[in-house]
Amino acid sequence: VQLANQIAAGEVVERPASVVKELLENAIDAGATQIDITVEEGGIRLLQIRDNGIGIHPDDLALALARHATSKIKKLEDLDAVASLGFRGEALASIASVSRLSLTSSQLDSGIGWCVQTEGRDMTASVSPAHHARGTTVTVRDIFFNTPARRKFLKSAPTEFSHIEEVVRRLSLANFDVGINLQHNGNKRWHFKPAPSDLDKLRRVSTLCGQSFVEDAIPVDVSLSGLQLYGWLGRPSMARSQADMQYFYVNGRVVRDKVVNHAIRTAYRDVLAPNRHPAFVLFLEIDPAAVDVNVHPTKHEVRFREQRAVHEFLARHIHRALSALHT
Ligand code: ADP
Ligand code: MG
Repeated sequence: VQLANQIAAGEVVERPASVVKELLENAIDAGATQIDITVEEGGIRLLQIRDNGIGIHPDDLALALARHATSKIKKLEDLDAVASLGFRGEALASIASVSRLSLTSSQLDSGIGWCVQTEGRDMTASVSPAHHARGTTVTVRDIFFNTPARRKFLKSAPTEFSHIEEVVRRLSLANFDVGINLQHNGNKRWHFKPAPSDLDKLRRVSTLCGQSFVEDAIPVDVSLSGLQLYGWLGRPSMARSQADMQYFYVNGRVVRDKVVNHAIRTAYRDVLAPNRHPAFVLFLEIDPAAVDVNVHPTKHEVRFREQRAVHEFLARHIHRALSALHT
C-alpha cells in the first residue's frame, strides 16, 4: 500500500506547489470562506493550509489519509456532472506518503478537534484530541524526506515559492468569495478579503496580475443561451507580450484548451500585432453536463460537447468587446 501511495504521489505530488494545489482544492470543496496558507522555505520545510470549512469527523480522519477510500467514491453519484473539484480520492494519501503530515480538524464550534499524524510510511493510527476551531488544518513538513531521488529535483526555495504563488494566484482568481492569506517565511505576501463587489474583485486581480493589466483591461460580461463569459481582456496595445498572463476558467477550474485559445486568437487577430500574446482573465460558466472535465487527471483539459458553439460564442463576444474600444 505504501508503495502504491508513493507511486501515486509521483503523479500528484511533483513539488510543494502541487501539495498546495490539492490542499487548497480540498479546502474549497469543504466550503471554506477563509483559507490561510503558511509557507517556509518555499514549502520544502513547511506548508500549512488552514480553512474554516465543514471539517472532518474524527471517525473519518484516518480514512481521509487512506487511498481510494470507498466512502470517497460513494459520494460520486454521477461522474459526468461532478461539480466538485476533486474526485480521485488519493491526494492526501499521496502527500502523506512522502512527508511528515498532520491533519487536524473539527466540525464543532466548541474549539475541540482531533488530529492524526503520519511520517511517511509510519502512520500513527491513533486519533488524538486537539484544539481547533471549526475547519481543518493540514501541515506538511519535510516533503520528500523519505524519497531522496525526488527531493533532488526540488529547485531553490524562491523558485519553489514562485510555483506556489502561481497556484495560489490561479485559485484566488477563481474564488473571489473566499478570503485567502499567503505568508512566506513569516512575511505576508497576499492578504485577500472575500471580494463580493466588482471593485473588490478588480482589486484582487490588480494585486495578482499587476496594476497595468487592470488599468487598461476591457471588462467582459455576457450571458447568452446557457453560456456566461465574465472577466477582463488585456488591451491589445500593451507593448509587452503576456503569454504568462492568460487565465481561462471553465466552471471555476483553470483550463488550457485548443478550442478556447483559438477562439481568443481569432477575436484578437485584427487588433494584436503578430507574435504578441494577449493577456486575459476570463471565466466561462457552462452547464456541467455540456463539458467533460475528466479528460486528464490534472483536469487542465476539457472537452466541450458543442465545441463549435463555444468557439463561436467566445470569438464573437471577445471580438465585440475589443472592437467597442474603437467606437
Ligand atoms: P479527494 O479530495 O479527491 O476526495 P483527498 O485525498 O484530497 O481526496 O481528500 C480525501 C477526503 O478527505 C476528502 O474527500 C474529504 O472528505 C476529506 N478532506 C480533505 N481535506 C479536507 C478539508 N480541508 N476539509 C474537509 N474535508 C477534507
Ligand atoms: Mg482532494
